[in-house]
Amino acid sequence: MHQDQKAIQLTSKLREYLLQVSVREADNLRKLREQTANMPERDMQILPEQGQFIAMLVKILNPQRILEIGTYTGYSSLCMALALPDVRITAVDKNDEWTKIAKKYWQDAGVSNRIELIIGPALDTLKTFDDQSFDLIFIDADKRNYINYYEESIRVVNKNGVILIDNVLWRGRVIDPNHDDLGTQTIRKLNDFIGIDSRVDICMLPLGDGLTIVRKK
Ligand code: SAH
Ligand code: CA
Repeated sequence: MHQDQKAIQLTSKLREYLLQVSVREADNLRKLREQTANMPERDMQILPEQGQFIAMLVKILNPQRILEIGTYTGYSSLCMALALPDVRITAVDKNDEWTKIAKKYWQDAGVSNRIELIIGPALDTLKTFDDQSFDLIFIDADKRNYINYYEESIRVVNKNGVILIDNVLWRGRVIDPNHDDLGTQTIRKLNDFIGIDSRVDICMLPLGDGLTIVRKK
């Protein structure tokens, strides 16, 4: 117990340190995070160190077309749009009210001409995309559909393309027998499935709430 508590404290102190020495959050991203912090659903937003990591991946991979499944107030898409001057993003979400905030911040940051927002149930929208039409996909919408999103993503991502999946550790609920709701069950099933999916190379990072990187062979 004492050991665990120490470990948790050390982890949060180390996170503070990591933020201090390494995270460079642009002003418009910081403002968006501060505004979202007043909303009850604020915890859905990726953490700044995740945003910086995803932006780094965008810079390294140089994708032409990105698909985001689950946009909320637009933080993750803004991170990706700011990472490269020419990258184009298709952002998919069903919520008008939250994505209105996203649109305002994309506009202010001068990237709104490179982000196309499609409002509606994500699975229906995904089914309209051609095979192999994206280079990078970020999955971060409703967890109960994660397996469906993964399969559609495998179809619409290019060969050598990359799929990122957020919340794969689900605040520890993946290993907590007291949690067995559909979302938790689906994340467990997806993690098990990706673990043996020979179509892809994989890497799971304990960054934020857990982030899996999948590369289609
Ligand atoms: N990537 C965002 C957070 C996404 S939160 C960020 O880092 O800020 C999850 C989002 O998924 C919410 O905005 C919610 O409206 C959306 N969502 C949930 N179920 C959905 C569905 N079935 N179809 C489309 N979007 C959905
Ligand atoms: Ca998330």
